[in-house]
Amino acid sequence: MSATVIDGKIFAARLRAAVEAQTAKLKQEHGIVPGLATVLVGLDPASEVYVRNKNKTAEAIGFHSVSYHLPESASEAEVLARVEALNADKSVHGILVQMQLPKPVREAAVLDTLDPAKDVDALTPTNAGLLMSGRAQLVSCTPMGVMLLLKEFVGDVAGLDALVIGRSLLFGKPAAQLLLAANATVTMAHSRTRDLPGLARRADILVAAIGKPELVRGDWVKPGATVIDVGINRVDAGGGKTKLVGDVAYDEAAQIAGAITPVPGGVGAMTIVCLMRNTLIAAALQAGLTPPPV
Ligand code: NAP
Repeated sequence: MSATVIDGKIFAARLRAAVEAQTAKLKQEHGIVPGLATVLVGLDPASEVYVRNKNKTAEAIGFHSVSYHLPESASEAEVLARVEALNADKSVHGILVQMQLPKPVREAAVLDTLDPAKDVDALTPTNAGLLMSGRAQLVSCTPMGVMLLLKEFVGDVAGLDALVIGRSLLFGKPAAQLLLAANATVTMAHSRTRDLPGLARRADILVAAIGKPELVRGDWVKPGATVIDVGINRVDAGGGKTKLVGDVAYDEAAQIAGAITPVPGGVGAMTIVCLMRNTLIAAALQAGLTPPPV
């Protein structure tokens, strides 16, 4: 058996077109241009690429887009002052502070300062709490992207056994909450979990967000399961080159699974578009409007 490949690029393109159309409508009908501000601190090359792509996509969709790049030596007070200025800026509806932050800057201090209404990554305690209460309007981008893919490929997940490997604030925890809200029976696993392969073999939906190249092997996969690989790992490809692989051994798992996301081109393709979706929703909500249907 060979699994159906879940091509995130196709769904991302469709969602992007919808966001673009609703952005034009918001501008035409209400004179509102969604604004996204990115804040990058330090010199991490991967983060620079992510932020550049976010700004480029925002501009292409028709958003007002601004970016701030603070030096590696920036103090926590300087970062918080930038966030406070953006909280007060009426042309900015969404603020994305790129994590990981250099050591002296506490992530919690940044998230406690960020206005939850502009928290388009949905990482603040307010938005995490609203998600748990079933009242979230802004949902963390990658978990939202995963749920949209599952909706397309699985449909109703009610009653299915879902295993989420990884319990980060950025992905694992919100993903588990969303699956639970959709009535899946959710198990969360992490580095202290016993018998991870055994748990994985019971999962109808297997979600891996670990950050360990190809940790999940083919014989961990239940025949016919849907495998969602969130991991992005750069590994040696020989000859001085590198390549990206996920947290799942793709070639092995694709023999057993019913459907599987590739890396790259699976979940990752959805994340940036979901960020744009959140910014559009945030702009509408801040103007007292009903969020557009995207
Ligand atoms: P993270 O904060 O480092 O969390 C990793 C999680 O994996 C932790 O909960 C950790 O457990 C668990 N873990 C580590 N080793 C394990 C093992 N041997 N067995 C079981 N669990 C283990 O990472 P993250 O931010 O969630 O990201 C995870 C991966 O997804 C990374 O590769 C990242 O690049 C990728 N990612 C991709 C996107 C995208 O757009 N596609 C977005 C976000 C993240 P403990 O809690 O016990 O330490």
